[in-house]
Amino acid sequence: MNIGQKILETLKEEITEIEYNRYIKHLVYDIKKSTADMAIYYAPNALVSNWIKNKYTRKIEHLFEIKTNEKVNVNITIKNSSDRRRLKVKEEKKKNSHSLLNPTHNFTNFMVGGSNQFAYAAVKNVSESAGQAYNPLFMYGGVGLGKTHLMQAAGNVFQNQGKNVIYTTVEQFLNEFTRSIRNNTMERFREKYRTCDALLIDDIQFLTNKEAIQEELFHTYEALKSDGKQIIFTADKHPKKIAGLEARLQSRFEWGLVADIQPPELETKIAIIENKCELNKVVLTKDIINYIATVIESNVREIEGILSKLHAYSQLMHVDIDLEFTKNVLKDQIEQSRAELTLDIITKNVSKDLNIKPSEIRSKGRSKNLVYARRICIYLCRELTQNTMPQLAQYFGMKDHTAISHTLKKINELLENDEDFKVKIEELTNKITSV
Ligand code: ADP
Ligand code: MG
Repeated sequence: MNIGQKILETLKEEITEIEYNRYIKHLVYDIKKSTADMAIYYAPNALVSNWIKNKYTRKIEHLFEIKTNEKVNVNITIKNSSDRRRLKVKEEKKKNSHSLLNPTHNFTNFMVGGSNQFAYAAVKNVSESAGQAYNPLFMYGGVGLGKTHLMQAAGNVFQNQGKNVIYTTVEQFLNEFTRSIRNNTMERFREKYRTCDALLIDDIQFLTNKEAIQEELFHTYEALKSDGKQIIFTADKHPKKIAGLEARLQSRFEWGLVADIQPPELETKIAIIENKCELNKVVLTKDIINYIATVIESNVREIEGILSKLHAYSQLMHVDIDLEFTKNVLKDQIEQSRAELTLDIITKNVSKDLNIKPSEIRSKGRSKNLVYARRICIYLCRELTQNTMPQLAQYFGMKDHTAISHTLKKINELLENDEDFKVKIEELTNKITSV
C-alpha cells in the first residue's frame, strides 16, 4: 500500500464509517505526481472533493506530517476517466509540463458580472495573446473571489496550445527554492522556471520580507519577460499595498496591467450558484438559490461548501432540499460568520459609508451628522453582535446602558417613520454582513 492510501487508512480509524464510505473511500492517491511536499488525490466529483477539502485537508496534512516528518500540502482535484485519458495524451506530448491545473477552472465556468468583468477581460485577453497584451498581468482581490480560477483558466488555454505552463503558489515556489539550495540543484530550479512558456504565481502577498526568494523571482521575471513569455501574478491586495516587497519587484508587478476583482453582486452570485448546481448535478429551486445568494458572504468558495453540505445532509437524512431545510443547514454558517463581526468592523464600515471618522462616531459630538451616524452604528452593533448594552455604552463612550437603551428606542421610532433611515440601515446591514 502506498503512503497516500496508508494515510487514508489511518484517517478511517478517526472518523465515522458513514463519512469514510461516503467520501474518503473514493479518494485515489497519485503516486506519480505526488512529491515529497505535495500529495495529490483524485476525487470522483466536485461534491466529494469539496466536502473533503473543507473538512479533512488539514487533518490529512497533519497525518502526513506525523508519518513523514515533512510539511506536506494536500491537493484534491477532480478527475474523471475521460479527463485522465485526455491528460495522458497530452502528457505524452509535453513531458516537461510542470503545472497542476484544475481542468474545471476554465472561462466557460466563470460567471462574469460587474465585480469581476475587468479582471475577466484582462485574463481572457492575455490568454489569447500570451506575452503581448499585458505582461505581467497582476490580479488582486479578496479571498474566494476567483483569482486562482481565472489564472488557471488562462493556464489551461496555454496548456491546450501545447505550451509549457508552470502554475505555482508562492509557498510552493519558496519550498522548491529552499530545497534546491539545500540539495545543490539551483541550476535545475532556474532552468525550470526561466525556460517555461508561461509562469503563473498565485498569492504573491506571501513574499513579504523574504529577500532571497524575492531576488530569485526578480531574475526569473526578467528572464521570462525579455523572452516575451507570459507572467501572471495574483495577490490579495494591490502591489503598492503589499508591505515588505523590494522596490524593483514592486514596480515590475505594475509594469503590465493591474486588474482588481471585487466581491460579486447579487445577480453574479445567483449565476454562480446556478452554474455550480449544474456542474454538480444538484437541483435547487429559484427561492433556495436566491436565499443562498443573499445570506452568503462574498467568498464564492463558501457557495461550493454550502452546496456540498446541502447535498450531503439531504442524502444522509433522506430528505429533499427545500427552503426550510436550507435555512437550517445554513444557520450554523451564518451564526459563525456573524460571531466574527466586531464593533470595530461595524464602525469602520459605517465610517466609510458615511464618510465620518470612527473616532467621531464614538465621540460625544452632537452635530446632526454625527448623531445620525452614531445611531446607525449603535443599532447595527446591537443587531449584528452579541455585545450587551453596558459593553456598547462603554464602546460608544456613553454614561451607561440606559443611554444605549434610550438611543435604541429612538432608532426604532425612526425605523417605523423614516423610510430613508430604514433603507440606509438595510443597505449597511447587507454590506457589512456580506464582507
Ligand atoms: P481566490 O483564488 O480568489 O481565493 P478561487 O479562484 O479559489 O478564489 O475561487 C474560489 C471558488 O469559487 C473556486 O472554486 C472558483 O471556481 C469559484 N468561483 C469564484 N468566482 C467565480 C465565478 N465568478 N464564477 C464561477 N465560479 C467562481
Ligand atoms: Mg486563490
